[in-house]
Amino acid sequence: MRTVELTLWPEEAFDDNRFLPILYEKLSLPNDGSVVVVPTRRSIDARGKKVMVRVQCEVVTPDQHAQRSIPPTRYQDVRDRPEVIIVGAGPAGLFAGLKAIELGFKPVILERGLDVQTRRRDLAAINKQEVVNPDSNYCFGEGGAGTYSDGKLYTRSKKRGDVNRILHILVAHGARPQILYDAHPHIGTNQLPKLVAAIRETIKAYGGEIHFNTKVTDLRLEGDRVTALVLRDGSVISARAVILATGHSARDIFELLHTKGIRIEEKPFALGVRVEHSQTLIDRIQYHCQPDRGPYLPASSYSLVHQASIDGKERGVFSFCMCPGGFIVPAATSPGEVVVNGMSPSRRDSRFANSGIVVAVNPSDFKLYLKHGPLSGMYFQSSIERRACVLGGNSQHAPAQRLMDFLESKVSASLLETSYQPGLTSVDMGEVLPPFITDALKQGFRAFGRKMKGYLSNDAQIIGVESRTSSPVKIPRDSVTLQHVQVGNLFPCGEGAGYAGGIVSAAMDGERCAEAAARMLQPV
Ligand SMILES: Cc1cc2nc3c(=O)[nH]c(=O)nc-3n(C[C@H](O)[C@H](O)[C@H](O)COP(=O)(O)OP(=O)(O)OC[C@H]3O[C@@H](n4cnc5c(N)ncnc54)[C@H](O)[C@@H]3O)c2cc1C
Repeated sequence: MRTVELTLWPEEAFDDNRFLPILYEKLSLPNDGSVVVVPTRRSIDARGKKVMVRVQCEVVTPDQHAQRSIPPTRYQDVRDRPEVIIVGAGPAGLFAGLKAIELGFKPVILERGLDVQTRRRDLAAINKQEVVNPDSNYCFGEGGAGTYSDGKLYTRSKKRGDVNRILHILVAHGARPQILYDAHPHIGTNQLPKLVAAIRETIKAYGGEIHFNTKVTDLRLEGDRVTALVLRDGSVISARAVILATGHSARDIFELLHTKGIRIEEKPFALGVRVEHSQTLIDRIQYHCQPDRGPYLPASSYSLVHQASIDGKERGVFSFCMCPGGFIVPAATSPGEVVVNGMSPSRRDSRFANSGIVVAVNPSDFKLYLKHGPLSGMYFQSSIERRACVLGGNSQHAPAQRLMDFLESKVSASLLETSYQPGLTSVDMGEVLPPFITDALKQGFRAFGRKMKGYLSNDAQIIGVESRTSSPVKIPRDSVTLQHVQVGNLFPCGEGAGYAGGIVSAAMDGERCAEAAARMLQPV
């Protein structure tokens, strides 16, 4: 095997018909099956005048290639095997389910929301009638918060093997193989539902169960064990092992744990706004192209960070979940709150570029909410979302302000066109957000304007609030057994418990929790 690096033009690298043949051509290798060129990384290099694409490849023998192409999973029929109860069908819950099957356990997944297809009706209702169903929305339902998203698959995890495993499983369920080598892989909201449904079908085909519209409302405890889960309809499911993968927005679950005396902890998170520019403007800044990026280059993205200084203390301001060619969506989980997030279709071809721009918040910022103990961050977060709703007009209209007007604390006389369907209300964002967040955002935006010429403009607007960046609560678990520190057969899992920050890391944590549950049920 040898590793080689090539530099290609965008039209060579991003034309699906030309990409693989051109690798053989550039390497002067026969494209006849006697040798296989496997791309391992494709990244855009926009540092020079012309945007180029760097491609790393491995040249392997057909045998080596066949070896590597073996699927990373071995599923078995688990119909009659011991059960692992999984609460939540987000990436953490679904990948816990798949892993349980591999390990010979029957996953029983309980999901408060609806299957991907039926869920669409509730998303339409939020966007068009501005009605939020508290059990079926952009965060709740099959596939979890990741289903109607950009499907960005990058993670800060250093465990390349584990990341690749998740990507291969996604490809086996219908994701484009390009995610295996793109430096910034993403799937797109139009592709994700099919993929999530395919994972569900695998789980069912091997004897696992998924129950939708099945909300867990209580836990029965005996000593340091959960013995059963109580569902909304009053029915009771007995449990030997419970993986709790309910996500960062399951406030009722955090309340339940707290009421039951099951330890939870407050944790830092980040909060701010989403900024929306035209994609053409961002492309011009990032690719220095005129008049546009042309037919081959993907919509450009950015990643920005700044240390603001507030009251003599440093506070991080950073871009979060940037969605090139995307849409801003209403991600509230209850009536009476306004929350925004972003998603993109696979082609990232909308006219808009949006990104969360958020400020780090930590427990010392929640002092006003101290009476809520470990839920103080959650109440702080919720109070801002409620204020956004009131100032937006008590609907899903989101408060918004043009960017330069925000910096000058001026209510915008008019707002720009937006991808946010429910609509916008012109407000002073300084009234929605606490002063320390407003000030940090202003400093951050000014710094970003220096880094990206043209970014700071009244042709951009901020829309609020971006508050569900990660969980405001941690559910503590033992670092080796992954069991809750007090409840032996409860496995806090995924983003809601504080162990993941995106689709891939949640999926990886789901797998780890399934392994831990299997070890507990059947010690080796
Ligand atoms: C609009 C949007 C865009 C995003 N874009 C990206 C992106 O591009 N890339 C990325 O990596 N991440 C993205 N994220 C974040 C990502 O979706 C989450 O990090 C990830 O889904 C977390 O996975 P999880 O399984 O831990 O939790 P979740 O996905 O939140 O899943 C939790 C599940 O538990 C269910 N549940 C909650 N309470 C109960 C209960 N009581 N009983 C039964 N079920 C319950 C919920 O309905 C939900 O389906 C996005 C999020 C949103 C909202």
